Amino acid sequence: MPAMIDAIPSPDETYAGRTLAFTIPARNARGRIVRLDAALDEILAAHDYPAPITHLLAEALVLATLMGSLLKNDGSQVTMQAQTEAGAVNLLVCDYKSGNLRGYVDFDEEKLAELGANPSLFALFGKGFLAITFDTAGGKGRYQGIVPLEGDCLSEACENYFYQSEQVPTLMRCAVRSGSEGCVAAGLLVQHLPDGEEGRERLHARLDHPEWEHVAVMAGSIRHDELLDPDLSQEALVWRLFHEEDEVRIEQREKVKRGCRCSVQHYEQVIARFPEADRADMRDEEGLIMVDCAFCSRQFAIAA
Ligand SMILES: [Zn+2]
Repeated sequence: MPAMIDAIPSPDETYAGRTLAFTIPARNARGRIVRLDAALDEILAAHDYPAPITHLLAEALVLATLMGSLLKNDGSQVTMQAQTEAGAVNLLVCDYKSGNLRGYVDFDEEKLAELGANPSLFALFGKGFLAITFDTAGGKGRYQGIVPLEGDCLSEACENYFYQSEQVPTLMRCAVRSGSEGCVAAGLLVQHLPDGEEGRERLHARLDHPEWEHVAVMAGSIRHDELLDPDLSQEALVWRLFHEEDEVRIEQREKVKRGCRCSVQHYEQVIARFPEADRADMRDEEGLIMVDCAFCSRQFAIAA
């Protein structure tokens, strides 16, 4: 009987925007669950996005958090960037670094309006691509994989990233609900890491491995309303999915908050890299250069 039954806390202390990590040792599988509420509302409040863009960004933020929580909390970072040349969405960027989450979307309002209320991923991006970058702290390197933006949703594109770039069978699910009380988004990630070969190169991934098939079927049975249910703790969700396993280890919890790294100092450094002639063009009548942070919509007046 897994020890996690004792670990199920009351709902109000569980779902306040944090990640939960778990492993299923006998299946060589690991997982992450996250539910974003306050942090998500804060990020969205910096923008005034129409519903389809809010939904897209919420999904991307959940996925970035799930992937980011695979990294150690040591300054390592994951960046998700979805881009296209001809779609309604020009650019979507999210990053997650040690519990700090941020993201924004650059889109074409006219093109978006033509797409109706529930545009598909393809309608939003056209022929786009998704770049996922893992920057590991401590000089362990930077790894980027790029996959086409295919599938019904961003989760599927991320699954393709893990399969094609890392050869790690991965299942990702994401649920978003937005209404008058704000936006809530949640997600689940499970991966198969046979023989403890985490981080090692593989020649190919086996999607038909019996261990993985079992885990994928169990994890895939999760419903969107379960992911979003405020009365279900993350531990309870893991329990629902995997209570027949001999052992499920709950490993860590990381608080997720909105975190932007913009500052006057940051923009001074950026602007200092431009030639003086360009800086002269950028200055207003008072000699200041106004810069907007795309992530949090804060405006900075830089004297440079
Ligand atoms: Zn910012």
